[in-house]
Amino acid sequence: MKIQIDTHTHSTASGHAYSTIDDLARGARRRRLKGFVLTDHGPALPGGTHPYHFSNLRILPDTIGGVLFFRGVEANIINIEGHLDLTPVYLRKLDFVMAGLHEACFKSLDREGNTRLLAAVLANPFVDGLSHPGNPAFPIGIEEVVKAAAQYGKTLEINNSSFRVRPGSEQNCLETARLCRKHGALISCGSDAHYWEDVGNFAKALALLEEAKVPPELVINSSIERFRAFSEKRRAVRSAEEEKMRIL
Ligand SMILES: [Zn+2]
Ligand SMILES: [Zn+2]
Repeated sequence: MKIQIDTHTHSTASGHAYSTIDDLARGARRRRLKGFVLTDHGPALPGGTHPYHFSNLRILPDTIGGVLFFRGVEANIINIEGHLDLTPVYLRKLDFVMAGLHEACFKSLDREGNTRLLAAVLANPFVDGLSHPGNPAFPIGIEEVVKAAAQYGKTLEINNSSFRVRPGSEQNCLETARLCRKHGALISCGSDAHYWEDVGNFAKALALLEEAKVPPELVINSSIERFRAFSEKRRAVRSAEEEKMRIL
């Protein structure tokens, strides 16, 4: 399997990442990707991105440095109701909306609480998928979360950086991948690059997907067509939901 789009990258806008968007594009091109999604952190993470960053992404071209550029976010889950740190008006037009748990924004609940929380987040029509659900700092009932992802057509991420920065992720990620195959849940495979050289670095994640025998059909960024189809479908749902909220 090949990954053609990196669905998880951070620029200097995130406050603790070190490359510009042009640099990230250079990294994507160097690894012969077709494109990348810029998923800077939502505003709740200390030093994180201002909400205007996300609405103004529209001024950027669709191709940067010879690769496709997609607009996304790694939003923060900020309370036990599963609310995010960006309002729907900022989320509706993005190409890929991931939500994730970060220790600086949310204190882990017990396994049952985290599982319920992530299931609620997956039910949120503005969320397309979860970033690094295999993080052992937030224990979950993996099968229940996978089932919720399958039910709502959302993605769970196999994050290549987790094997370095979230120790103990391997076993959870392998189990997640195996259960995604069992239940037909979608997967995104992201580098979580905070520096341009890491864009498109999927070495460990790909080996794990192979070990779990995940077919490419379940991995939304295994082809540009798959990613576009997923993204367009999700964007239509988000736009319709936001429209509804305005009318109410
Ligand atoms: Zn993250
Ligand atoms: Zn990230």
